[in-house]
Amino acid sequence: MTVELISVGTEILLGNIVNTNAAWLAERCAALGLSCYHQSVVGDNGERLREAIGTALGRSELVILSGGLGPTTDDLTKETAAEVFQAELVMDEHSLERIETHFMERRLEMTENNKKQALVPTGALVLDNDNGTAPGLLLEKDGKRMILLPGPPNELVPMFEKKVAPILQGLQPGVLYSRTVKLCGIGESKAAAQVQDLIDSQTNPTIAPYAKTGEVHLRVTARADSREAAKALVKPAVKELKRRFGRAVYTTREERTLEEAVVKLLKERNMTVAFAESCTGGLLAGRLVNAPGASAVFETGYITYANKAKRKLLGVRKETLKAFGAVSARTAAQMAEGAARASGAEAAVSVTGIAGPDGGTDEKPVGLVYLGCYVQGTVWTRECRFLGNRAKIRESAVAAALTFLRSCILEDRAYKE
Ligand code: ATP
Repeated sequence: MTVELISVGTEILLGNIVNTNAAWLAERCAALGLSCYHQSVVGDNGERLREAIGTALGRSELVILSGGLGPTTDDLTKETAAEVFQAELVMDEHSLERIETHFMERRLEMTENNKKQALVPTGALVLDNDNGTAPGLLLEKDGKRMILLPGPPNELVPMFEKKVAPILQGLQPGVLYSRTVKLCGIGESKAAAQVQDLIDSQTNPTIAPYAKTGEVHLRVTARADSREAAKALVKPAVKELKRRFGRAVYTTREERTLEEAVVKLLKERNMTVAFAESCTGGLLAGRLVNAPGASAVFETGYITYANKAKRKLLGVRKETLKAFGAVSARTAAQMAEGAARASGAEAAVSVTGIAGPDGGTDEKPVGLVYLGCYVQGTVWTRECRFLGNRAKIRESAVAAALTFLRSCILEDRAYKE
């Protein structure tokens, strides 16, 4: 089945917000086995939206629209979609009740225009919004379908997962099942090269690589008559990927993140960790505590941006800073050791680098980052060279630091056994 995405909102068109909905929906649609050949963005303008919908329906079986379901007059998606399918808008009592409850529970006054959100095109399937007021809608006419979703990602994502994905699965022959093998510490091209033979030779299951910052996800998807049969097709492929990538696989669980895998590993080893951050300025600690249960393993973090702080809080030697500079393997090593010493944690990770845009030299360019890792008496260091802007370099450094910690713990064990 072909699907086309239309993101509605002048803010997206002007670049005021990043169109994360389109990226997310495209990835989910691909995983559900839908073919997406076109995406577009249109502002809050009825005429242009009508034109975009018309074009999309002319070449795709399903059109997913996001945004523009709000209560204000510039929210036109529902009105325009209804007009294209020549459907009238009628009050949906069930949605109205939900909206009234939503306001009542939050002790907010419901304004007249909120009622507009409970108007639905005749014949449409209403998709309840558990996180907001605008319901989603599924409209159908002459073999073509439109799905309307609210713009805020915290409303769109759960609605898609809970309500839309099962419908889309049901519209296609057979059952789709997928597993994701998540890798860290390996680049996308290297990972793809290692599985190119599998990608080329297999159609069921398919293997698709997705690059994330500091990670590569390999999604294995199979279609079969039953879930069990699809699972059976996926299983040997996942096993083969695990064999090929070994320790680079940090999880095969869909919902588990890298920070969660690191927290789990630390818990298993009964270890606590401390961080000493320079260029990431707390981002590493912030990422680790994304993982529920981080309090069991996270001791403390030192944000030592200035040299003086590196010396005072972590005991980095003056001579080291003078001879090698703050961005050096030696400084990273002393930062990690110092953080472990000061906190009493069994493990400590340090990050020191040049995030840019200024401060780079020929010898030490922007993107140069040193990581240090102390694990039970041993210190390792790693030099990384990242590309991108300041935010991207800092984000890459955080992912690399988590990966480095993980590999140091795993290797430490191997070394001791
Ligand atoms: P609401 O019910 O809150 O009014 P809506 O369906 O009318 O939502 P919009 O008004 O278009 O949606 O967008 C509301 C907010 O949702 C935006 O300000 C933005 O933060 C977020 N949003 C909308 N579209 C996107 C998108 N394509 N990608 C990411 N975020 C988006």
